[in-house]
Order: sequence, then structure tokens, then C-alpha cells
Amino acid sequence: MTAETAAPGAPAEVESGVGPTAPRTSNEVGSVRPTWVSDSRVARWTSWVRQGADPDAPVGSQTGLAPWTLEPTAAVPVSTTVDVTDAVRSARAAHADWARTPFRERAEIALRFHDLLLAEQDEVIDLIQWETGKARFSAWQEIGQVAALARHYGRRAEHYLAPQKRRGMVPGATVVKELRVPKGVIGVISPWNYPLYLGVGDVLPALLAGNAVVSKADSQTPLTLLWTRDLMARAGLPDDVWQVVTGAGGVTGAAIVEAADFIMFTGSTATGRRLGAQAGERLIGASLELGGKNPLLVRADADLVAAAHGAANAAFANTGQMCIHVERIHVHENVYDEFKHEFVAAVEAMRLGAAYDYDVEVGSLTSTEQLATVAEHVRDAVERGASLLSGGRARPDVGPLFHELTVLEGVTADMKVYDEETFGPVVSLYSFRDDDDAVAQANRGSYGLSASIWGKDVRAAEALALRIRAGAVNINDGAAAAAGSVEAGMGGMGDSGLGRRHGAEGIRKYTDAQTVARQRWMPLGPPPGSSVERFVHATTKQLGLMKRIGLR
Ligand code: NAD
Repeated sequence: MTAETAAPGAPAEVESGVGPTAPRTSNEVGSVRPTWVSDSRVARWTSWVRQGADPDAPVGSQTGLAPWTLEPTAAVPVSTTVDVTDAVRSARAAHADWARTPFRERAEIALRFHDLLLAEQDEVIDLIQWETGKARFSAWQEIGQVAALARHYGRRAEHYLAPQKRRGMVPGATVVKELRVPKGVIGVISPWNYPLYLGVGDVLPALLAGNAVVSKADSQTPLTLLWTRDLMARAGLPDDVWQVVTGAGGVTGAAIVEAADFIMFTGSTATGRRLGAQAGERLIGASLELGGKNPLLVRADADLVAAAHGAANAAFANTGQMCIHVERIHVHENVYDEFKHEFVAAVEAMRLGAAYDYDVEVGSLTSTEQLATVAEHVRDAVERGASLLSGGRARPDVGPLFHELTVLEGVTADMKVYDEETFGPVVSLYSFRDDDDAVAQANRGSYGLSASIWGKDVRAAEALALRIRAGAVNINDGAAAAAGSVEAGMGGMGDSGLGRRHGAEGIRKYTDAQTVARQRWMPLGPPPGSSVERFVHATTKQLGLMKRIGLR
């Protein structure tokens, strides 16, 4: 692993000639604020924050810290719980008109948003990097994913929610349709690690289904979400249909759960559990996308060079702060040493740094808390006897929250890193004897989010996939193949969550099924004044007849 760029206090590399806004960083020593981020732009974005519903409440603001230097980013107003209630109330009022807006018009907004996002991607990529400290390619992946979702739902939403004809009790006598009715106001709460993808990716299908949305911006990354909200307005979305509130999760987040009609939550399992209980009390639904401890299996017949590079990307993409990133690699004992050699070499070739360009492959951790967890998991493992194959130290010389890409071996069940989610650039290697052993190792622990299998015998790998308890299994790919297939559902089993995003389930969950059944000719029951016994006899015969002719 090489460290390419700036130490804290020095400006990150200035990229020249890319996009309309270069140069991208301030000349001020120590500042990594993109130069084009003027106070007036910030004011425009923050005007989307719902605030001021309670005239007696003091006007508060919060400021995140840019991970590359820990300098403050930009102050953003903080919403109160009264603001949340007010946001839900006005979203609910706006929902009535929005739900009646023809599909085509709603879809056109999503498709225009797609085009604007691609055209203006440099701006939001800068904001994502400024607020999260991630590498530029990791930030671009959010663009790719959101663009795919905007097109997918823009073109498929109507089909996913189209009324379905169903058969009635007596075919022909009852005309039955199953409709999809928007739930009303969807509360969307998402974390800081993918502020664009998780901030808007779940909002798009909720809106297209005819709902209004109230989002809580994560306190570390509000500017990215607010920029996106502004872009959506330029794409034509009416103002009140998507509201943004800010503030602490336990305050404004909890207030959303108290007022909305359905909750889309992405975050830790601990918070998801609490929020699920709160939603259960109110008898509203919740889709919960939670944590993971994702395994990658290398079978004996795998292409070891490809597997090593795939594993390195899957472990360290987004600096390991990705719910589906790989935290444990299980390798067949016959190829363990060879794989280890290839893998460590691949990891050590990855460039670590702080720069607004695509040369750096791995960025910073996002918060001091994340760095502390990573350091603690590594310290605990090494102290209890694990070996460091690579990395293991914080890198304050690169930036205050940087940590080396770390590979551990000899990890045992008494170590935190064994089955607790690290959510950082740390991965452990284990060996397995055979497929049964591999399955047992992959399925240990309570999570079940994502898994990966490498092997040339694709049939054998697919058979193995069926035995692994995970919402997604990638074959000969670390994590992106399933997540990037936005037509297929994505979500967790076990402690990794409930519900699915993407595809049909990712939009139908925002609706209630409503059955509309129209009775023709005669009621379902004995005609007035006739014998009940005769009716029962005749209907029983009819049921037998329908079976014989294959109608039921
Ligand atoms: P977190 O649970 O602490 O916070 C997530 C969001 O919930 C934040 O915006 C926070 O403000 C809000 N929140 C906190 N307490 C709340 C409460 N009581 N009521 C309502 N909202 C509340 O998670 P985090 O540490 O910010 O994010 C990292 C976690 O997210 C990791 O565990 C990671 O695996 C998980 N994650 C999962 C997915 C997925 O798709 N499965 C994706 C990304 C991240």
C-alpha cells in the first residue's frame, strides 16, 4: 500500500481540467473545501432544511468535520421535533396531489434527474469526498448506482405497480383487481457512508410510487443530500413532496418514526432494532438495511490472481465503510498460501490518499469514532495472538483519520474482529477443508447480508451459494455484481435486516395492496328466499366441476 498525497494541514491535490469547476480545492492552507462551494451555494442548499416551525425554539445549526483535515465543513440548520411534525404534515398534504399525478409525469422527473445528475456529477462527487473523505472512484460509484436506479424506476415503476387481474370465487361472476396504493409519507433515514446512494436511491421509488417523503440527512453528510434535493427540484419535483430535516438521530430521526406512514432505514443493527420496535408499536411497516460481517470464499479451483484482486477491492472499497464489504476471507487449505501471497501483494499495491482525483484508490475513514473502532479491533486481535500480514497502523501522516489497509491471520473466536462488524479497512484470512467446512464458517454469526464465492466450477459455486445465509451471493465478484444489478432485490437475512431495496420489492414495499372486487349478476351466497341447503349442495357440485375442468 502506498500513501500518495497530502498530510493534514496541506491542501489536497488540485485536479486540473476535469469538469466545469476545476480547480477544486481552496488555496487556503489547510482547507479542503472545494473552491466552487460559495457561501451563496451553501445557503441555497440549506434552504431545503425544514426549520422554524416552532417560533419559540432557538435557531440551531450544526457543522460536520471534513475527514481529510478535521476542519469544519459548512453550518447547516438543525430541525426540531416540531419541524419534523410540520414537515410530515405538509408532506401529507402534498401527497394527495402527487398521488394523482400521472405516472408518466412522475417518471419524467426521475429521468430528468438522471440526466442532470450525470451532467453535474463533478459537483456532488466533490461534496461527497469533502464530507466523507472517501476516494473519488468510491464517490463516483454512488453516481453510477443512483443513475441506474433513476432510469430503472423511471422506466419500470408503472409496470411494477400496475393493477393485477385476479380470479374471483366464481370466475366470471366476480371481477377482481389488486391495486397498489401509496402508503402516504415515507420516512427515510440513512447513514453517512453513501450519502448520495442511500440518501436518494430509496427516495426515488418511494416518490414514483406516489408517496411524499421526509428524509433525515445524516449529520456528517447533510450537504450531499441537500445538493441532491436541490437538483431534484430542478428536475421538476414539487417542493413539499420531498422534505429534508436535520439533527441528531435519536431526536429528529425518532420523531420521523413517530409521524411517518412507513420507515426506510439504513444503518446499524442496534439502531435498526430500536427503530423496528418503535415502528411495530405504531403498526407501521419498516424496511431495515443493517450491518454485516461478509464472507468471501475461495474454492480450490479459483483463479487466484483474479480472486486476490477481487477480494482486495471488496474488502477495501469505500475504505471498508460499506455494508456489503468483505471482512473475512475463507480459503481452501490447498491454495491458502498461494492466495495469501497474491492477496497481500494486491493490497500493498493499493494507493491510499486524500485527493480530488481518480489516482488514489482508498480514502480516509469518515469519523474519529470509525478510526477508534478500527484501531481497537486491530489492537485487540494482535494482543490476543493474531498476526498482521499487512498494515495495522493509523496513518496521521496522510490525514488525521487514515488507517492502513490491514490483513490479519490467526484470528480466533475470542477476538472482536472475529464476528463483530468493524466497518473499516480490516480483513481476516481463514482456511477451510471442504465445502461443508466453508459453509459452516461462512454462516457463523448472526448477520446475513452479502457473500462472495470464487471458483472456476460455476455450477459448484452456485450450489454452494444456496447453502449460504446471505441476501446476496456474488460468484467470481466481491460485492458489486449483486448490488449493481438494480433489477434484483438487495437486503439482509438474520441481523442484517428486513425487506429489500431495488427491483420490484424495492418499490412495492412503499405501497399497500388493495383488492377491488366487483360482483356481477348475482351475490355470492344463496339468492334471497331460496334454500340455503340447495345452495350449499349446488356450490359443492360446482367446486368439484371446476376442479375436473381445471378452473381451480
Ligand atoms: P447508525 O445506526 O448509528 O445511524 C444511521 C442513521 O440513523 C443516522 O442518520 C442516525 O442519525 C440515525 N439514527 C440514529 N439513532 C436513531 C434513532 N433512535 N431513531 C432514528 N434514527 C436514528 O449507523 P451508522 O453508524 O451511521 O452507519 C453504519 C452502519 O450502517 C453499519 O452498521 C453498516 O453496516 C450499516 N449500513 C447498512 C447498509 C445496508 O444496506 N444494509 C448500508 C450502509 C450502512
